[in-house]
Amino acid sequence: MQGTHFTGINLSVLLIATGCTSTAPKTTHVDLMVTNGQVLTMDKEHHVYPQGVVVINGDTIIAVGDASLAKQYSASKVINAKNGIVLPGMVNTHNHLPMIAFRGLGEEGIENRLFAYFFPLEKEKLNRTLIHNATLLGASELALGGVTTYADMYYHMDEMAQATKQVGLRAVLGETVIKYPVVDAPTPYGGLEYGENFVKTYLHDPLITPAFAPHAAYTVGSKELQRIHELSVKYNVPTLIHAAEFPHEEQRLEDGLAAKSPVDYLYKLGVLDKHMVLAHGVNFSEDDLKLIQQADAGVAYNPMANAKGATGIAPAWDMLKQHIRIGLGTDGPMSSNQVDLWRTLSYAANMQRLRYHDRTIMIPRQVIEMATIGGAKALHMEDQIGSLEPGKKADVIVVETHSMNMMPNYNPYATLVYQANPSNVEYTIVNGKIVMANRKLTNIDEDEIRTKTIAIENDIRIFAQELAKKAIQSKSVMD
Ligand SMILES: [Zn+2]
Repeated sequence: MQGTHFTGINLSVLLIATGCTSTAPKTTHVDLMVTNGQVLTMDKEHHVYPQGVVVINGDTIIAVGDASLAKQYSASKVINAKNGIVLPGMVNTHNHLPMIAFRGLGEEGIENRLFAYFFPLEKEKLNRTLIHNATLLGASELALGGVTTYADMYYHMDEMAQATKQVGLRAVLGETVIKYPVVDAPTPYGGLEYGENFVKTYLHDPLITPAFAPHAAYTVGSKELQRIHELSVKYNVPTLIHAAEFPHEEQRLEDGLAAKSPVDYLYKLGVLDKHMVLAHGVNFSEDDLKLIQQADAGVAYNPMANAKGATGIAPAWDMLKQHIRIGLGTDGPMSSNQVDLWRTLSYAANMQRLRYHDRTIMIPRQVIEMATIGGAKALHMEDQIGSLEPGKKADVIVVETHSMNMMPNYNPYATLVYQANPSNVEYTIVNGKIVMANRKLTNIDEDEIRTKTIAIENDIRIFAQELAKKAIQSKSVMD
């Protein structure tokens, strides 16, 4: 009798300790849960849950699994994905987002577009307010298009940071350093001081990762590149730079190092390291790839911008095979005229198939990897974002599959790469917060952005048209 009695006591203690009773099953209360979706985790084993659940508390993913997981949790907010595709938010690894103010300009077939059109247009029309308002527009389009993190090189990064946070996105933002006077720095290389102040201010921000952004090896001196390298090591922040975008950049570098390529030059200067994210790489050689791989640097592959700019096709497939950190980018909105990644996805695959004359490479799963965990790796943020795994930041998107263009949906990776467009994104969640639901932005008055954008358009139009007439006379590509 005594033995039985003690067994009963022990059992009730156990029930109390686990919060379990026969009438009320154990549940843990969380902030947010996404249920009833086809969950592509993008983890190392490419786990897919056909009827999956993602559980979020605060800014973090705490569980991912099949439908049975939903019984273990109650949530303040449940998103029913209705058989849609649930995946990590996409990562756009290279952008100049405020150039969205100029999107659609300079489309008259200008040969020397960067120097004869981009730079004079920016010199005349850029200012703090335009950068802020254009970032609001760009970040809104990113959120509506399922991009949760973007990397950007531009000016007045404090304005970009504020506007990005207002929309609710995550970003890696680098103040451009260049040998010319620019909008926020009247002397050459003024971006160095501006950039260091920006880095100090945002070093511990939950959404903004501050960075340095020397424009390119041919527009920034060797001493300045080395100074930026010291600072990126000191603050442990990324350095974003354009590299091997144009042919023969090595001919425009400082003499003395006999560099064979911009990558070789950066290596010989001692600045090519794990902090660096190299944008484009159209003309990377095999030796360049070895140097990048050894340095553990990241690469931003921008197939649409490179096709539109007729610069070439980066050897992205070789980079993937060599386990180089490579993600997808759109480049600025004057270069690809896109900021979200949907059209870029099919370009990313198809341009590689053309380059290598091989239809078996860059299958859709590999493209989605590049757009998510690959982008996170390129930015050295894979410990925080890029896949749906417990412990990672809750950056999640839901893409519906009931629109005509999304049907049928045999292979979700192929559906996303070749069928989807931004309007199929139904929810965008960043850092555990819903920033877009059912095609409506949560934190932003869309009409206010429309009014601001029309004002920018009216201010720029006449000047831009006159500039285009002059620029079309300029013939040299790299003068
Ligand atoms: Zn760029």
